[in-house]
Amino acid sequence: MSSPELVEKARDRVRLARSEGGENAVPGLVLQRLLDPVATNGIELKTIVDKVNAGGRITPEEGLWLLSDAPLLMLGEMARIWQRRHNPEPRVTFVIDTNPNYTNYCDADCLFCAFYRKPGDTEEGYSHSVDELMGLVGRSVDRGATTVLLQGGLHDDLSMDYYLDVIRAFVERYPDVHPHLWSAPEIGKMREVSGLTYNEIFAQLYEAGQRTMPGGGAELLSDRVRARISPKKQSAAEWLDIHRAAHGQGLKTTGTMMYGHAEQPPDIIEHLECLRALQDDTGGFTAFIPWSYKPGNTPMQRQFPEYPGPAVYLRMLALSRVYLDNFAHVQASWFSDGKKAGQAALHFGCDDFGGTLIEENVLYEADHDVSTTPDETIEIIREAGFTPARRRNPLYDVIETY
Ligand code: SF4
Repeated sequence: MSSPELVEKARDRVRLARSEGGENAVPGLVLQRLLDPVATNGIELKTIVDKVNAGGRITPEEGLWLLSDAPLLMLGEMARIWQRRHNPEPRVTFVIDTNPNYTNYCDADCLFCAFYRKPGDTEEGYSHSVDELMGLVGRSVDRGATTVLLQGGLHDDLSMDYYLDVIRAFVERYPDVHPHLWSAPEIGKMREVSGLTYNEIFAQLYEAGQRTMPGGGAELLSDRVRARISPKKQSAAEWLDIHRAAHGQGLKTTGTMMYGHAEQPPDIIEHLECLRALQDDTGGFTAFIPWSYKPGNTPMQRQFPEYPGPAVYLRMLALSRVYLDNFAHVQASWFSDGKKAGQAALHFGCDDFGGTLIEENVLYEADHDVSTTPDETIEIIREAGFTPARRRNPLYDVIETY
């Protein structure tokens, strides 16, 4: 199925669920539902529980009910069942990583972004040469980083050769460190500046030494939402097309989601439905990582001044774990809602604590300063009742348990 067809099919399935009443949350019935075999809107709670126990697939209607109405602890228990099914050992992984940026110049003007500067801004804008970038990478490698997640704005001045030179320099200078590079919007920019197809771009990136790509730029895979928060950015179908091409050329990627702004519950389900369908087709996603929107210093701050708290974060994680039955890993993106919420997330479907983020600039610009240390991460995981294990890269190669 092509990506536009995949998006249309996901939309149809969610539309059907909505017309059957799935989006109408009915507050205040939680205790009653615990006792009632029929949850609401014709959704059978017992059917969902039986499906989860048997490893069955949740429908969009059931997903909407889980998102809007299900008691949180019950949803968490369902997520734990899927967590243990995919990861039977009581182990939680983490990685020592860093997120430097190669440029903050960008022409996409996303309304939720405090990081970028307009092309021509010589006061606050920057664009690093390959050598400068390798210096940044080296500083983090000296502090123990085994994975470097490198992303930047969408900048017309950077040629395809620049991206390829970065990869070649990286693998030559730091052969033991994993380059986790770019994201779908940056691949879109590479296509604009090079005229190559997505397949040709990924073939060149792979040949230069890249093996994985982060799932940034997904935000919400709903064009209704994208039109409100990032009207200049690629469509949901394009994001999916790019990941399909990456998987086809042998790269693994992650799926992500940024929630808590212009979306409605059906948009969340549409997003998960798109990812699940693509994973059925390609099997190329290694993990799913949701996080909440942070309004600080963004153009969207006046429109959406608040962001959802830890209870919503735990619900999103647990729902994702149950819905994305074909994803092996769900990451507790602790940087989104804090370390304590990240710790609780380990009991809501997450088998990975994410990275220590030696350097991070995107959330920092939105007044959300985040970092941790390996020792603190190990303690957080142990305290939650799991065995900490350090992985080298996004492919989940474990190098040490504690
Ligand atoms: S989120 Fe990315 S693509 Fe959007 S404005 Fe910021 S840097 Fe540019």
